[in-house]
Amino acid sequence: MDLKKRAGFELQLNALRQRLIHEVDSAEESLREDVVKAGDITSLPTHPADTDVEGFDVQVAIAQNEERMLEQVEAAIERIPIGTYGICQSCGKSIDMPRLRAVPYAANCIDCARHERVSIEKPVQGEPRHRW
Ligand SMILES: [Zn+2]
Repeated sequence: MDLKKRAGFELQLNALRQRLIHEVDSAEESLREDVVKAGDITSLPTHPADTDVEGFDVQVAIAQNEERMLEQVEAAIERIPIGTYGICQSCGKSIDMPRLRAVPYAANCIDCARHERVSIEKPVQGEPRHRW
């Protein structure tokens, strides 16, 4: 990967990292607020549905998902200076450019990601099908 592309991904990853840190923070904050609200009925009038357990679980899941994504982003940033960014951590092949553009923090090539199914990535859309 040339330096210019690498620098572009680095910028993108750092921006994503900042955004995720912020999102994780505010998600955790709103979770804390919900816990307080649930035990404090003198605060703002809340509809019973606002404090339902299901909604709370969804928020926890979102916060956990963002934390995992943040870990992947940070791991990808760490790979840049050691020169393994853009290289599949499982098979050692280069990760396709279209995949890196869609998922700049990808740690595995598309084949390994499909194989392992541990990915939390959004489904890659509009990607050409593998041709045999
Ligand atoms: Zn691979």
